[in-house]
Amino acid sequence: MPPVVVMRLLASPLGTTYREVAVAHQDGQCPCGWCPLPAIDIETLHAPLEDAAALKRADDLGTMAVAGRA
Ligand SMILES: [Zn+2]
Repeated sequence: MPPVVVMRLLASPLGTTYREVAVAHQDGQCPCGWCPLPAIDIETLHAPLEDAAALKRADDLGTMAVAGRA
C-alpha cells in the first residue's frame, strides 16, 4: 500500500472523531461549554501534525534517543 494511502487512513479517524465530538457539542448538548469552531479547531489539529512530521536536524537534542540513566 502506498505510504500516502496509509497516512490518509491514519488521518481519517481523527477527522471523524472531531466531527462526531463537534456534533455532540452543537446547540449546548454537552454541559462542558465547548463550542466547535471547525476552521480554528482543524488549524489547531494541523499545527502539531505539521510539527511532528517536520524533518528534524540530527543534532536536535529533542529528537535524540536517551542513551542511559542519570
Ligand atoms: Zn463537552
